[in-house]
Amino acid sequence: MPANILIVEDEPAIQELIAANLTRAGHAVMRASDAETAQRLVRDALPDLILLDWMLPGASGVEFARRLRAEERTRGIPVIMLTARSEEQDKVMGLDIGADDYVTKPFSPRELVARIKAVLRRRAPQATEDVVEVGGLRLDPATHRVTAGGESVSLGPTEFRLLHFLMTHAERVHSRAQLLDQVWGDHVFVEERTVDVHIRRLRSALEASRHDRLIQTVRGSGYRLSTEVPAVAAD
Ligand code: CA
Repeated sequence: MPANILIVEDEPAIQELIAANLTRAGHAVMRASDAETAQRLVRDALPDLILLDWMLPGASGVEFARRLRAEERTRGIPVIMLTARSEEQDKVMGLDIGADDYVTKPFSPRELVARIKAVLRRRAPQATEDVVEVGGLRLDPATHRVTAGGESVSLGPTEFRLLHFLMTHAERVHSRAQLLDQVWGDHVFVEERTVDVHIRRLRSALEASRHDRLIQTVRGSGYRLSTEVPAVAAD
């Protein structure tokens, strides 16, 4: 499953080089040359990860990272900082802005792709190809296969992404707006009841093996996938 990666880099040649390598590695890429543009892009759709250059015209990468961390909606986005020299890297690390990793320019594209993979695995498992297993459900992003209690389950693409996100963030409650951000990548132009429609489809696909009970409605809050099935729903 490709990750949506936002590159914030003002040097066109470096931006181009990174974009080409990430695209080749199977990721979807968004680009910005300054923090203001990046902010606008993030407002429209949450990326799975941000590659953030420190020295930018206008607000610096450090300022932008701080802004991301200060906001509830963007706090969880993994950030990899790009710095020009290792002294800069030391300085930025010393500022403790909560970045997930730091990469010094010049870097080898292969190393950057590997670092991205490691950060995604740790912070955004729904954006990796790792197999996930929860409560008798098994989802394989690489082959797009889902089984419930060993039986194959057929899901539409949106239900698949929704289940993938819920399984990689099991036991946590997600509001409809959060699910739109994380699964649809759009919380502005998609209506919240769209989530309900796809939750319904997902449950009905899991009904045969009774795994629909794992997809729980939390009144007033949203949805969660939990292996602790409440007694009322267990018949
Ligand atoms: Ca720069």
